[in-house]
This record gives sequence, structure tokens and C-alpha cells, in this order.
Amino acid sequence: MIIKQNFSLRPYNTFGIDAKSRYFATFECIEDLVKIKETLPDEPLLILGGGSNILFVQDFEGLTLKNEIKGIQKIKEDPQHVWLRVGAGENWHEFVCYCLQKQYAGVENLSLIPGTVGAAPMQNIGAYGVEIKEVIHSVEAIHRDTQQQITLNNQDCAFGYRESIFKNKYKYQYIIHHVTFRLSKKPTFRVEYGAIQEILKQKNIQTLSIQAVSEVICEIRKSKLPDPAKIGNGGSFFKNPEISPAHFESIKARFEHVPAYPSPEGLVKVPAGWLIEQAGWKGKKEGKAGVHEKQALVLVNLGNAQGKDILALSQKIQDSVNELFEVKLSPEINIIP
Ligand SMILES: Cc1cc2nc3c(=O)[nH]c(=O)nc-3n(C[C@H](O)[C@H](O)[C@H](O)COP(=O)(O)OP(=O)(O)OC[C@H]3O[C@@H](n4cnc5c(N)ncnc54)[C@H](O)[C@@H]3O)c2cc1C
Repeated sequence: MIIKQNFSLRPYNTFGIDAKSRYFATFECIEDLVKIKETLPDEPLLILGGGSNILFVQDFEGLTLKNEIKGIQKIKEDPQHVWLRVGAGENWHEFVCYCLQKQYAGVENLSLIPGTVGAAPMQNIGAYGVEIKEVIHSVEAIHRDTQQQITLNNQDCAFGYRESIFKNKYKYQYIIHHVTFRLSKKPTFRVEYGAIQEILKQKNIQTLSIQAVSEVICEIRKSKLPDPAKIGNGGSFFKNPEISPAHFESIKARFEHVPAYPSPEGLVKVPAGWLIEQAGWKGKKEGKAGVHEKQALVLVNLGNAQGKDILALSQKIQDSVNELFEVKLSPEINIIP
């Protein structure tokens, strides 16, 4: 167990922010985690997965623990489904590839999302019409201070759009160490998205397979989203706002082509990227912080930006979207103050 001091988190966050953590260690099992915590019981704690949904605004004056609990175990099987218990430190996309290879369906639409398995339930990761809540059977977690162990079933996790109990009632309280997935042996393809249909047509793919769907998704993602290895970013910075139908109609009266998707509880979901683009931010730069030129929802580190530069830009964007549309954008990214 090595605890490093004054440790640069730059390689550990996809924004590439050079924040330092007072202490830093990795853990490969719950026992390690508990031991490290006991060594530094009073330090504020930050659990890190792949650092792909996090913005460090300044140095972290506490203990950062990077989750490296690994392992994929088949715990149950019936003619239709398989149950896999997966270590929270497994890389998400590598887990998707494992499922593709074994012909287990359900996560193919979530291909190439950065990060770890353990962080995925946090915000109920989603892409191309699928959310992870559809395949989560249960989540095992340990309390940061009391070390109480809990297993939450799917309902207990209170999943919503980019939400779960871990971002709300249990925020900063529990550390997820394993996630159990229920995957299908017979796929149900979810290819209704326009972009998926277009590529399937272009490539003349007539017989669908989970591999084919994954390849299409990877292709779309590579063409649309900046690769954090080349340009620092944390994916979508904001959530897509959900507004009342009356509010939506008032925007539509001014912007005839405003895109929209139905959302639960009779609300209307409007793409945040579209709102930001209308407010004139696409491709804009403010010092070393910028808005991506292809996808206005993605803020980028143009080289040596500090977390506070990215945050300041995000606040300006929020203000101008609010002024133009009376819509308050909420960050999807976890901002570490
Ligand atoms: C280019 C790009 C594209 C993206 N595309 C998508 C997308 O399509 N859909 C989507 O939903 N997201 C997307 N994201 C966001 C991100 O990939 C996901 O949110 C991912 O689940 C984050 O995983 P992580 O391991 O990197 O989490 P981290 O960034 O390390 O952590 C995120 C938060 O979870 C907490 N946390 C992490 N692990 C644990 C744990 N084991 N227990 C308790 N708390 C924990 C952290 O403290 C932090 O608050 C994208 C990001 C990037 C950079």
C-alpha cells in the first residue's frame, strides 16, 4: 500500500487539469481501501474511476483513492439471461468488449463510453437510446466512514436521466465496489437513432449483430466527440434540460426548428448542445478553455487550462443560455470545488 503525497492528477482526469491531491493511492480490494482510510481517517475523500466525468477546480486537499477492483464473474445463468458480477475498477469499454465476445447483449449501445464500471451507475450512463439502468441487477457499496456494506437492487438505485441515489441521497457517502449486470443471450437491437440508421445504410448492413451495432456506435462517437487523449474534455458538460410544454412552445415561437424529445412526467427534453450553439458559443475560446467546434455541449482544454478557466466558461454559457431561453443548464460533470 503506497500513499503518494502532493500527487498530480493530470494523467487521471480526461480534462487534463493539473490539479494536485494532498494524498493519492490506489486500491484493488475492499480490505486495501479500509486500510488506507484507517491510515488517514480525517482526510476528505475522493473516489476516482477513470476521471472522465470530473472537473478539478483547484488542488484537492485530501485523499484521492483510485478504484482498481477488477474481475468479471458469472454468478447465474438461465436460458435467456446471464448475471455478471463485475469489479468497479474494470474499464467500461473493455467490459463491453468482453460482453460482445461472449455474445451477451444489452451494453452494445454504450460502447466506447470512457470510465469505469463502478462510476457507470453513478449517473446512469446512457447513449443512443439505452441507459445502463436497463441492465443493472444490483450495486454493492461500502460506506466511506462506517464501512457498512449495502447491496442495492435496481429499484433502490433510484435511476433517472443521468441520476441515481449515489448522486443524491447517498452523494459522497458510499463507494461502489461491484456491479451485477443481467444481460441477454438473445439481443433486442436498439437502432432507431437517425445516425445509427444512416451508417447501417451506408455500410449496407442488413443482418444486425451486437458486434455490428457496437462498431456503428464507435464510428459515430469517433466522428462526433473529441478524443480526450488528443484534446482534454469530459464529454457532455451539461445535462439536457427538461422543460414544461408551455415553456417549449414559447421557445418554438421564436426558434421554429428547436429540436425536442419527450421526457417522463410530461416534460420536453431539449438538447443542451443546441441551446449553447444558438447562444453563439460553438467553437468559441476563452483563454485556454473552449467550446468544441463540432459539439457545443463539450467544453475543452485547449492546453494548460486550469479547472477554474473551464468553470468560468461554463458559467458564462449558463448565463447566456438563461438570458436567451430562460433555461437553467445543470452540469452533468462532477465539479470538485
Ligand atoms: C469523450 C467522453 C464521452 C462521454 N460520453 C458519455 C456518454 O455517451 N454517456 C454518458 O452517460 N457519459 C459519457 N461520458 C461521461 C463519463 O464517461 C461517464 O460519466 C463515466 O461513467 C465516468 O466514469 P469514470 O470512471 O471516469 O468516473 P470519474 O470521472 O472518475 O468519477 C465520476 C464521479 O463518480 C464518482 N465515483 C467514481 N467511481 C466511483 C465509485 N466506485 N464509487 C463511488 N463513486 C464513484 C467520483 O467521485 C465522481 O464524483 C463521456 C465522457 C467523455 C470524456
